[in-house]
Amino acid sequence: MRTITLAAAIAAVVAVSGCSQSSSPSDKAAGPQASAPAPSGSAPAKTRENPLLTKSDLPFQAPPFDKIKDSDFAPAFEQGMKEQLTEVQKIADNPDKPTFDNTLVAMEKSGQTLNRVQMDFNALFSANSDDALSKVNEDMAPKLAAHSDAIYLNDKLFQRIQTLYNERDSLKLDPESERLLEWYYNDFVHHGAKLSDADKTKLKSFNEQASKLESQFVNKLLAATKAGALVVDDKSKLDGLSEGEIAAAAQAAKDRGLDGKWVLPLQNTTQQPALAELTNRDVRKQLFENSYTRTEKGDANDTRKTIAELAKVRAEKAKLLGYPNYAAWKLEDQMAKTPDAVLKFVRALVPPTMAKARHEAGELQSIIDKSGKHFKLQAWDWEFYAEKLRKAKYDLDQDQIKPYFEVDNVLKNGVFYAAHELYGLTFKERKDIPVYNPDVKVFEVFDKDGKPLGLFYADYFKRDNKQGGAWMDNLVGQSKLLGTKPVIYNVCNFTKPAPGQPALISWDDVTTMFHEFGHALHGFFASQQYPSLSGTNVARDFVEFPSQFNEHWASYPQVFNHYAKNYKTGEPMPKELAAKIHKAATFNQGYDLGELLSASLLDMSWHMIPADAPLKDVDQFEAQALKDNHTDLSYLPPRYRSSYFMHIWGNGYSAGYYAYLWTEMLDDDAYQWFENHGGMTRANGQRFRDMILSRGNTEDLGKMFRDFYGKDPEVGPMLKDRGLK
Ligand SMILES: [Zn+2]
Repeated sequence: MRTITLAAAIAAVVAVSGCSQSSSPSDKAAGPQASAPAPSGSAPAKTRENPLLTKSDLPFQAPPFDKIKDSDFAPAFEQGMKEQLTEVQKIADNPDKPTFDNTLVAMEKSGQTLNRVQMDFNALFSANSDDALSKVNEDMAPKLAAHSDAIYLNDKLFQRIQTLYNERDSLKLDPESERLLEWYYNDFVHHGAKLSDADKTKLKSFNEQASKLESQFVNKLLAATKAGALVVDDKSKLDGLSEGEIAAAAQAAKDRGLDGKWVLPLQNTTQQPALAELTNRDVRKQLFENSYTRTEKGDANDTRKTIAELAKVRAEKAKLLGYPNYAAWKLEDQMAKTPDAVLKFVRALVPPTMAKARHEAGELQSIIDKSGKHFKLQAWDWEFYAEKLRKAKYDLDQDQIKPYFEVDNVLKNGVFYAAHELYGLTFKERKDIPVYNPDVKVFEVFDKDGKPLGLFYADYFKRDNKQGGAWMDNLVGQSKLLGTKPVIYNVCNFTKPAPGQPALISWDDVTTMFHEFGHALHGFFASQQYPSLSGTNVARDFVEFPSQFNEHWASYPQVFNHYAKNYKTGEPMPKELAAKIHKAATFNQGYDLGELLSASLLDMSWHMIPADAPLKDVDQFEAQALKDNHTDLSYLPPRYRSSYFMHIWGNGYSAGYYAYLWTEMLDDDAYQWFENHGGMTRANGQRFRDMILSRGNTEDLGKMFRDFYGKDPEVGPMLKDRGLK
């Protein structure tokens, strides 16, 4: 599961390099391994074994990143798929009457090699990629799609599941096993298990086409984003950037062989962080346009044809499965359940948000007018004048704040501290676990009783070969059945300091750390028998609930005062400055929420196209969708445009981008519960752990929330937090 933060409006680079392969640590792995001293004399060197094919013997089965090479992945994927198909066929062909054990437990135990390969690959491909891994990704995507079809569409296997499902009331299963059976049955039906043979063939073809288009989109977008960086040949044009940022731009140019110039790499969102600082309006416009048209240049990296075709294939697939559109199919197993429920929720937020945004635009326009300049506010002006307004209103200067947020200190005295106060966790750094890049730090996590809970990897700094955004994932998932404990990583894209300098991060970065660690807690507290129901394996519109919930503790006074200290002097942040940060929290929310709503509605529009509609002109369709949804303010473009909307075309958030907002409703409401019940206490933390964080997908997610709070989620606290009420 990939979880790319956006609630924290983080700055993030998208750029998977086409750069040198030597940047991959796996290339540094030694050649043939002979761990024991070779017997002297004539014995030929032992053939090197592929480290992905055996269970790791490192603590917690941590991946041996020091031994894995790029070239290990393709054969390991092939071997893993082959093994799982053999295991699954054996289950399907079992002459014994189907039982829960010989069918579902056996399924849960299948595919362990493939799973391991996939998890290790995901980590490296996302955070430390190179051309070789991109090639593996492109080659394997259609094969993996076919592999999953071969399981979902295996009729003998499905018949066994169906038999068990029909007999479920007489099987006397424990609640988690009962949930597993229902989950398998619904999941198989959802993926076409009940189709005729002819339709199954069609479905396979749609899935294969879709997976090819998806990986094509990802590769084009990564290349386009790298190519879209703004190259500046005159330092004066960078007026407004700090000395550190200018030095970083010079270094970025050097890394690309452009010595003597400056490069501002693009981040994956429409707005770019430098737009808040660049004083030269022409340069701002140029940077914005580089971002906005990155994938619409009519060259090899233009994604428009790819996404139009992908939307069409998805619509046809949904129709084949019996749904009016792709969104209806995709939402069936989500907490929201239907496109109507999503649209109702999102559209209700549009009027108050757009009204706030118009008001904000008016304030910015008056700053422009007062400065004696005569132009109309445009998208490339927004961040710049918003920053001026922020300073005027709250006297808040990012450079004043950052010395209080040194990254290691925020992690240990903020993120870890909050987890200790709420849940009793403790952490100890381990230097003996291999990592894929020297920037990565590993910690062992201990439970409240001092027992080991798992391993946590922190990979916080931006690299040219890392995808943009921030995310959490597992390297090893928790399962009592498999006897595994969680191994989890958090990846972010914070600016890396020059050697010897402290890593000072922004307030947005701080909340991003808490966010990603909230996902990690959901993974660490997993307490499931079955891997399929474990930890963060929940619906998209629930999975961002624990992460966004954890963001609240970043500004909770007891926690904030514990970490917000000057990196040089250790002095706590002055009270007035801290108060300004908290007061500024509702600043610019019309814009911030507006760009999210706009992107969510674009996502829904693309995925509600009926199958028989002709192929769309992407720009026309986008303009019309924004207009129809009343989110077409010229100075407020969507957070992602259709043609570079990674979440929905490449990352599995198709018809799912609304989930960030939906879960914001859940997390603000749950935080309200904490506020009503004494705030940060071990007892409250334990309750949240017992009723939400440790439950994985073991029961209906709406019921889980209701049991915790005693009522259905309400949108009031979210509107209050956003300053819209
Ligand atoms: Zn997240």
